[in-house]
Amino acid sequence: MSVLEQIGRPLGTHPSANPDVFFIEGSSEQGAGLACFASKPLENGQVVLRAQDPVASTVVAKFRKEVCAWCFHYTFGDILKFKLETPRRRGAAWFCSTSCRDNWRKLIGDVGWTAIAAFEDGLARSSKSGVSNTEDETCSLQDIETAWDNALKSGEKILATRRTKPRWVPPTATLTHDVDLDEARFSLSAFISFHNHPHTYDQVKRLVPTLKLYTDSRATLQGHIDIYLYMLSVLPLDSPIMRYVTPLHMVTVFTRDSGNSWGIWGLELAEELFAYCMYPTASYFNHSCAPNLSKERIGREYVFKAAREIPEKAELNVSYLGGAEKTLGFRERQERLLIKAIEEEMARTQKNKVGDGFRPARRGCE
Ligand SMILES: [Zn+2]
Ligand SMILES: [Zn+2]
Repeated sequence: MSVLEQIGRPLGTHPSANPDVFFIEGSSEQGAGLACFASKPLENGQVVLRAQDPVASTVVAKFRKEVCAWCFHYTFGDILKFKLETPRRRGAAWFCSTSCRDNWRKLIGDVGWTAIAAFEDGLARSSKSGVSNTEDETCSLQDIETAWDNALKSGEKILATRRTKPRWVPPTATLTHDVDLDEARFSLSAFISFHNHPHTYDQVKRLVPTLKLYTDSRATLQGHIDIYLYMLSVLPLDSPIMRYVTPLHMVTVFTRDSGNSWGIWGLELAEELFAYCMYPTASYFNHSCAPNLSKERIGREYVFKAAREIPEKAELNVSYLGGAEKTLGFRERQERLLIKAIEEEMARTQKNKVGDGFRPARRGCE
């Protein structure tokens, strides 16, 4: 069976993370989509869901030393005081406190840490980074299928080489763009969750997939294939994480990331994207311009509360736009990073001309 045939959602019911308070069902208003409904009348202020740990998350490359990898606290430009270093003394994650560092390390576990250290140390061989702004193009489902088939064959060759020549050093500079690094770290964090908590793979698989990220952008497809081949090249061969480094797991994560992940936004005016996270238990709340749930982030936890009295069986909605937190599609993230790169390039070349232009339009409400 091809990768694309396997990425669909499992059939059957979608378990609610808090069934006493809400259930998940198909919604006539959402087309074929799913929605959350109150299991009983809810009081104003009642907690509907605590989404505690993201299944996958990453602080974007530009802010890794300024935004805590555990609680997403921002230092306003100071370098975070606490970090974890790889065996080659590369910083792998930065934190605002020792407790954030210790919590993160405990959640990742030894298997996860070994994989992350190998991932980061592999990057040490290539120091280039930036954002690609070459022309992109669309591609067909057949293109996607063929590209991943070829990637699988290349991957098998890499593994065969590593098994027969333990001292083989993988080709350098396979991950040269910040966008790819963010996506790579994000997918690795998902694979570590799958290993540590196998039910999280089922949670991710139940989310609505989209292939638009690939049909719209061959560069994105190629970026993900590069990530796959990079991980096969550098993660320890005996790591249990390796069983998730497959085209199927890659495509499963990325087709859910797009459209399901939350952006963690810092400075509202500057529109800076600090991090993005996938909270599958919270992904079934649909958007409304007049939401009946409030959403608040406390560290890495999202708390959803009834914003007014809600009758039994009413659909539960959140605003995707409210406050400083928004969801952001894959391409929007890429475009955002590209815009930042253009701004920085302009700042370098035309010092006084940066200001009003190049501000991305806010996503409107229909
Ligand atoms: Zn922290
Ligand atoms: Zn709206």
